[in-house]
Amino acid sequence: MRIDIITLFPQMFQGPLTESILQRAQDQHLLEIHYHDLRTFGIGKYHQVDDTPYGGGAGMVMRADVLVGAIETISANTAPTPSPSPVSGRGGKPHVIYFSPRGKKLRQPMVEKIVKKYEWLILVCGHYEGIDQRVIDGGWIDEEMSIGDYVLTGGELPAMVLIDALARQIPGVLGHSESAAEESFSAALDRKKEYPHYTKPAEFEGMKVPDVLVSGDHKKIAEWRKKQVR
Ligand code: SAH
Repeated sequence: MRIDIITLFPQMFQGPLTESILQRAQDQHLLEIHYHDLRTFGIGKYHQVDDTPYGGGAGMVMRADVLVGAIETISANTAPTPSPSPVSGRGGKPHVIYFSPRGKKLRQPMVEKIVKKYEWLILVCGHYEGIDQRVIDGGWIDEEMSIGDYVLTGGELPAMVLIDALARQIPGVLGHSESAAEESFSAALDRKKEYPHYTKPAEFEGMKVPDVLVSGDHKKIAEWRKKQVR
């Protein structure tokens, strides 16, 4: 999957997306991330990207002309690099997502749908008061997405949350021992929450691991785990 991120703060992604499983996915070319500093599309000598809101009030609004320039330039760029994952072959046009508290709330089935349906995404990260509504109304945004009912300072953290959730669903990203099949909110668990986990030591601060888990009886263990799902 190829993901192009439009942001005023590309440095924010260093760390969260360059460690552990997400870095490995990029090394294996299962995930390809491109960062685009919106300021390079800004207007005039100072590369202006925002302006004061019509109607007055506090804060700045990101300009439609600058954002649309960025979205169109990136969309015209190149088709996604063919990836070895089974999602290839559906390239051509990117699916453009704008993060907003007004958007549809992200849930696990949405994550799975996006991985199955699209191999190329453009993620638009808002900042300040948000973006000029005409970018959305004019059809440059395919989907408005919220990560929950609270307000953040920008769309960068939501973009990282989405990318992390998507990456786990891309075939080959998780090793066998990290399989995503039986996780909280997966179809295998009826979209419910997973059972609890235990590891050594067998006794910690007077608390013992449930007997059934050390019984060696795989059928009983499976039954116990099933009962713990809620
Ligand atoms: N004025 C807006 C908030 C702007 S917050 C309002 O009241 O709805 C600035 C940017 O942060 C937004 O443009 C959006 O890209 C991002 N953002 C903030 N909270 C978010 C959330 N819960 N989900 C997704 N994106 C969010």
